[in-house]
Amino acid sequence: MMCSLVKAQNEPFDSILQRINADLQLFVTDKVLTDEVSENLKQLNADGSWADINYADAQYDPLKRIKNMATAYIRPTNKLYNNAALHQAIVKALQNWLEKNPKNKNWWYNDIFYPQAIGQSLILMRSAKTKLPADLEEALIKRMIRRLKTGDGANTSDEALHFLYRACLTKNKATLDSAAKYLFEPIAVNEGKEGVQVDGSYYQHGKQQAIASYGRVFGANSVNAAFYLRGTAYALPKAQLAILVDYLKNTFLQTIRGAFYDFNVRGRGISRKDSLSSGIGGLIEKIRFFDPDNTAYWNASALRTSAKKAAAYGVIPAHKQYWKSNYTLHVRPGYTFSVQASSNRTLRTERGNNENILGKFLPDGATNIQREGSEYANLMPVWEWDKIPGTTSRDYHDDAGATIKSEWGILGTSKFVGGVADGVYGTSCYSLAYDSVQAKKAWFFFDREVVCLGAGIKSEAGESITTTVNQAWMRGAVDTAPKELSRAPFWVVHDSIGYIFPQGANVTISNEAQNGNWYRINHFQSKTELQHKVFKLWINHGTKPTDASYQYIVVPGTSAAGLKKYDQSMIHILKNTDQVQAVKHLGLNMLQAVFYQPGILAVDGISVQVDQACTVYIKGLNSKSPLLYIADPAQEQTAVHVELKLPGLSKPKSLNCNLPTGAFAGATASFKIKE
Ligand code: CA
Repeated sequence: MMCSLVKAQNEPFDSILQRINADLQLFVTDKVLTDEVSENLKQLNADGSWADINYADAQYDPLKRIKNMATAYIRPTNKLYNNAALHQAIVKALQNWLEKNPKNKNWWYNDIFYPQAIGQSLILMRSAKTKLPADLEEALIKRMIRRLKTGDGANTSDEALHFLYRACLTKNKATLDSAAKYLFEPIAVNEGKEGVQVDGSYYQHGKQQAIASYGRVFGANSVNAAFYLRGTAYALPKAQLAILVDYLKNTFLQTIRGAFYDFNVRGRGISRKDSLSSGIGGLIEKIRFFDPDNTAYWNASALRTSAKKAAAYGVIPAHKQYWKSNYTLHVRPGYTFSVQASSNRTLRTERGNNENILGKFLPDGATNIQREGSEYANLMPVWEWDKIPGTTSRDYHDDAGATIKSEWGILGTSKFVGGVADGVYGTSCYSLAYDSVQAKKAWFFFDREVVCLGAGIKSEAGESITTTVNQAWMRGAVDTAPKELSRAPFWVVHDSIGYIFPQGANVTISNEAQNGNWYRINHFQSKTELQHKVFKLWINHGTKPTDASYQYIVVPGTSAAGLKKYDQSMIHILKNTDQVQAVKHLGLNMLQAVFYQPGILAVDGISVQVDQACTVYIKGLNSKSPLLYIADPAQEQTAVHVELKLPGLSKPKSLNCNLPTGAFAGATASFKIKE
């Protein structure tokens, strides 16, 4: 009787604590750990402090060092296992921390990192042969107590995690109740608030796309929590499991090509070294324990994102328009192509804490084009920041022109930003009006290619206006045809990506070394000067253009030989003006169009007339039963009237297309057209 009562009181605390303990050791390599801990032991002062740490403004160290010491101490496989001197050092260092009671200027350390790191060391030491002195442990547990800021997305779950640590350390049911509640609180669709959106994107710091920045923290924390609490009375409820799995499967993991993130989804983290390296193996490992329904998908993702299989492995064609975040993601086995724009409904990519200092043009139609995955990885220190791939902007004489002047997100300026999508294909548009540059930019997404159009490019600024086609690592040769790009059409191919200019263009190709350092884009990073060879391709529209335009077709997964055989006649660019941009794909039998105002597109025996500005996509263009997809990028209209004359229909069709409203304003509506 007595026995089972004691057991009841220990559960589920002990099981959860053991899972956390094991999880903390998941990626430990004993040799590396021993070396690091031995070095830190040598440097430790008699009072338990380290000379190289400014305790008035402590960051990750010294708690990270203490945690590593605790890890080495408890691992039977480690040389320092059960080492008495190490135990003494751990006690001293923890006592010193308590006495110094460091406070960082950045609340995140005080409210999240410190209590988490303390909790981790305590949990590790619970499995030690010689435990920590009880009074020391008790004092440290007290130090972990912080007020929990609810409704703060990834931050809330970060805080709830140390509540969970504390609940297990103290076997306190009330603490566990609130930990479980707030760990899972962010797993909800929070229309317009921070967190997961109805379109599957993620907001943090206001209405700002944060899919693999804060959204990554959200995903990792939620997965950890679900992993720790699985099979207990606190397990993640089914409805929330569905939200989490949908986010990870259909958004988050889709932004990883090979082992690397799309640069459009890392927020201000783009300015941190290695920030495009995904490193999410542990996360996927854990999902499999509590989501057996998608095992095949998780297995394929684990192999692909850890580079054990090729970037194409298990990739299914998908196209998603995230109308809440002005983000478009087009995924094919052969490549990923995404676009980030900004609107007056969303915040532009933030500069914050002096990170992402030069990212002024990041949300101006930036196109991330990945094949193998690492095309942009760690290239940011040497990027020319007013030539972000895909953007149209002033070409400043130096990168000071790309400086974001104020911290945190700034509201965008354009209303007409969004697109139409059916899950596999789609069109996106961005009516750019920023930094004294105007342009109508649109992207038409197919299988083999993406057509990029720009029209109505105007500026009164003194600098040349340029559209950058790409700026990526220089890899191998740049091939062109004809050699001198003397007559249209011409093409350029580099690193297995082809760029076709059907009407020619005033392009410049640069394959030179560029210099820079991380510090210039992020003041937490190194000042070491770097030099990398960069492939840069851009179109010059000249100074003070009044109605300039561009058109280019990106063909990823090709070569010079492949481009020679590429059948460009499949693509008809029907119109490229500041009123209508339209492309027909003969092979796929589809039409995609952006109407920037009410109007008619009448060409090639097709007529599409709309009474409102909108984006339109017609599938089965010549068939007897075409499908019409339509969306309002301005998110204002409730209906669009469409008059159609199509080759497969014997008579004109008139449709009143009701559009989604409320949270779904901007989403795509679809209509079957019948004779
Ligand atoms: Ca420049």
